[in-house]
Amino acid sequence: MALLTVEHLQVDFRLRQQTLTALYDISFTLSPGERLAIVGESGAGKSLLGYAIVNLLRQPGYISAGAIHFHEQNLTKLGSRQWQQIRGKKIAMIFQDPMVTLNPVLTVGEQMVEAIRAHQKISAQAAKQLAIHKLSQVKISAAEQRFEQYPHELSGGMRQRVVIAIAMLLNPEILIADEPTTALDVTIQAQILHLLKQLCEEQGVALILITHDFGVVSRIAERTLVMYAGRIVERGPTLEIINDPQHPYTQGLLNALPQMALAGQRLNQIPGHMPSLGEHPSGCAFHPRCPYATEKCRWQRPRPIYSGISTVACFAIEELLAETNLEEGDDN
Ligand code: SF4
Ligand code: MG
Repeated sequence: MALLTVEHLQVDFRLRQQTLTALYDISFTLSPGERLAIVGESGAGKSLLGYAIVNLLRQPGYISAGAIHFHEQNLTKLGSRQWQQIRGKKIAMIFQDPMVTLNPVLTVGEQMVEAIRAHQKISAQAAKQLAIHKLSQVKISAAEQRFEQYPHELSGGMRQRVVIAIAMLLNPEILIADEPTTALDVTIQAQILHLLKQLCEEQGVALILITHDFGVVSRIAERTLVMYAGRIVERGPTLEIINDPQHPYTQGLLNALPQMALAGQRLNQIPGHMPSLGEHPSGCAFHPRCPYATEKCRWQRPRPIYSGISTVACFAIEELLAETNLEEGDDN
């Protein structure tokens, strides 16, 4: 039974002259304890999807179609009262910049105790004990001292650990992490990602990791969704996708990774750029950048089909599969 089911979700922006669609027909499920990555370049709609799930879309963005089920509840139908029981408590979210979450004028301890006591009727002393326990769970040494410090007294990596500790305070069922390590240097990134994975595993928390960096995905997520211009273009088990990417966009993202390029080989950035909202091309939105684009790709939109490796929306793959089936048919 899925923990989270997103069905045909559409997000629009209502502007004065027109309504622009930012997310189109997004469907996926998340099982309890599963780790899912959402990958794509900046502007693909990944963060927007995260915000839509926790009802933090900013005006003039809104969910114009589809449903998001968390257990039995349709999240798109909840009022702000009901959201208080879910956001931060059952579904927590962490962001690239820890200072979005942390209050600069309160000590780490003050904000943790406040967060706990907003949801649980426990004494300040018990809340402090719990907070210090959570700080040590995120591998913060000298947790009692850190408890008394202000966010600016901590390093970037340490702050992000505090944010993770706060996200985990109320034992959420889902953690959505939006580029949680992008602002950190590479060694710290690896440590924080390892910590996230470990905590989610130990505590049975389902993780949605939003990232532009395919390099971090393989270490963390069992399944991956690749997004382009507001749509899911490929989805499947992470290792299968990394070993044999089907969609030309996924291939492009992987070819652009330093660790995927052979020694001495030039990095292959995908030419062109992600179209902005309101400029999504017709047909397959990737066609202006795709080395395999044909006339058909400019006007018709490919539907997702299962390739045997992943589910992918691309005419080139569709044709390849049709040819293979024909050949198999010939043998019979
Ligand atoms: Fe490229 Fe066409 Fe496939 Fe789109 S549908 S990814 S343009 S080959
Ligand atoms: Mg983003």
